Amino acid sequence: MTRRVTFTFDNGPTPGVTAGVLDILARRGLQATFFVIGQKLRAPAAAALASEAHAAGHWIGNHTFTHSVALGERTDAAYAAHEIEDTQALIGTLAHPDKLFRPYGKSGRIGPHLLSRAAVSLLQAQRYSCILWSSVPRDWCDPDGWVDRCIADVTARDWTVVVLHDVVGACLPHLSELLDRLDDLGVEYRQDFPEDVVLMRTGTPVHLSDAYMSESDLPDVAPADC
Ligand SMILES: [Zn+2]
Repeated sequence: MTRRVTFTFDNGPTPGVTAGVLDILARRGLQATFFVIGQKLRAPAAAALASEAHAAGHWIGNHTFTHSVALGERTDAAYAAHEIEDTQALIGTLAHPDKLFRPYGKSGRIGPHLLSRAAVSLLQAQRYSCILWSSVPRDWCDPDGWVDRCIADVTARDWTVVVLHDVVGACLPHLSELLDRLDDLGVEYRQDFPEDVVLMRTGTPVHLSDAYMSESDLPDVAPADC
């Protein structure tokens, strides 16, 4: 069976890294989504990288403003508005028409810390699409071992949404190696997202449930060690 793979690159844009990722993707004709951090876009060099990615046909998604405290750990409406809307304002015309948003998972965990009730209300009212993931091979904390984990994830599923990171010390040094191995497996590269990772699409619930949101502030858990 042909496996499908959708790539997402989170936590950038990063000068010195994102351009290298874009170069590798361009040489292979692959298109992905870059889930960017709002406060990084304030730097002109990072904003230019987001524009460059958009011009190359990649989708630009919103990955919160500060990427610090998860939305389910700080559930007031003002925090959700800052994290989501201030980032979307900086993304501006680069935004995908479906308004792609990915919450901060704290080391890729999925659970009620991802969203607050207030964040969900905002995302629905403003017709965002909320996109999770199905593979987090931990490129940021295992720069030499994440490729094997990614291959294992891809072979275990029909359609895998992979989270990699265009930050220093993450996927870039072994990205070409990963793509060579995926080519050998004959995977189909996709830019869109399978239903199983979509919590809502343009404001309409898909897999939205209480499992992904908190009513009141959860403890601020530290991201997992490697
Ligand atoms: Zn992230």
